[in-house]
Amino acid sequence: MAERAAKQLELNKSELPNSIIEVIATLSRAGFDAYIVGGGVRDTLLGLRPKDFDAVTDAKPHEVKDVFGKRCRVIGRRFQLAHVYSGRDLIEVATFRAPPTNDAHTTQEGMLIRDNVWGDIKQDFARRDFSINALYYQPLKGIVHDFCGAVDDINSKTLRLLGDAPVRIEEDPVRLLRALRFKAKLGFDFDDALAAQFHDDNWALLDQISPHRLYDESQKMFTGGYLVPLLPLLFESGAIEHLIIYPPSEPTALVQQVAVNTDKRIGAGKSINPAFFYAALLWDNYLYQLDKFKKRNMPFADAQMQAASKVIDRQRIKTAIPKFAEQFIRDIWLLQPKLSAPRSKQIVQLAEHPRFRAGFDFLLLREECGDSHPLAESTNGMGAWWQHYQTLSEDEQQAAIANFD
Ligand code: ATP
Ligand code: MG
Repeated sequence: MAERAAKQLELNKSELPNSIIEVIATLSRAGFDAYIVGGGVRDTLLGLRPKDFDAVTDAKPHEVKDVFGKRCRVIGRRFQLAHVYSGRDLIEVATFRAPPTNDAHTTQEGMLIRDNVWGDIKQDFARRDFSINALYYQPLKGIVHDFCGAVDDINSKTLRLLGDAPVRIEEDPVRLLRALRFKAKLGFDFDDALAAQFHDDNWALLDQISPHRLYDESQKMFTGGYLVPLLPLLFESGAIEHLIIYPPSEPTALVQQVAVNTDKRIGAGKSINPAFFYAALLWDNYLYQLDKFKKRNMPFADAQMQAASKVIDRQRIKTAIPKFAEQFIRDIWLLQPKLSAPRSKQIVQLAEHPRFRAGFDFLLLREECGDSHPLAESTNGMGAWWQHYQTLSEDEQQAAIANFD
């Protein structure tokens, strides 16, 4: 094991948020070992700003609860951990775990179902996914524990699974998605053993993962700010077929455009709704279904509703889209014809629609990329029109409406 001084690695305690320091200090004062682990250490070493900081300790979840009292909630079944509030931040505090030992923790196929066997730090590192995610940093003592050559992997930009690669993927195939995500985020290369895991048999294992977990994972992928480099990886690897119903063979112009826009918004610190990307990914399938329902001679509004339901119901079997996200996707789709061919007396009302912003953004992105699906209706240049309309004063808006038809 390598124990290095944090200073040597240019890890500076003063750059860490107070919340993580406070949580580590409080646990230490209570007599426990506590470290920062995972993305927080990795990203700090890489000079990136970590999304969040996770802590790990030898205190059991109920002991963490005793230390923090009301500020702490113990959550999870398959993977029990403590949520600790410090100021406005929420810190996830996990307990050192041992690798799975017996049949009670895995399915017949070797998939991990329960992961609550406590262990020590050396057992804990071995059950983490990648070497670069298994660094332990004690900021008060200024020490970093590296049990697996993780610092070397960071320096050589290598993504490496800990342990026997095929076993680690069988245990949890979501690690394949995580590998693509970290490759896109960090620009690292896979080592040979990891690269060899990207084959159909392993991807098929993803179909046994709960749709809830896959939705959570898709959210991490779509909202990390690196969708543009991730997108080709998802398509080339075949991962996309296990995430989305009827995916095209390559990203459509619209999907590409939305990815660029999403990363840009995240980079600028703006909020994004991950369902927006789902709306783009599923758009072609929606158009196809809409066309089929239209041919059944039902009213257009009914055809829209039925098509949207059919697409979302099917998608939910792969990734459990929550209800609020489902409604968001539906609203974006249903607003498209209204926004691209409004009657003048609808304009004011449309601009006040609670989902106007999302619907308009979608319309503009379709217009910018020349939404090329054969069943896509023209946007009639209305993306640009609405964009201009929103910059006008109230009087000018009225004049624009009067001149509209
Ligand atoms: P980021 O938060 O930037 O996406 P992260 O590495 O912190 O990256 P998390 O999902 O927050 O990722 O997980 C925290 C840590 O927990 C990881 O760094 C890793 O050590 C461990 N971990 C998470 N998921 C798995 C998994 N499926 N298998 C093994 N270890 C995992
Ligand atoms: Mg994290």
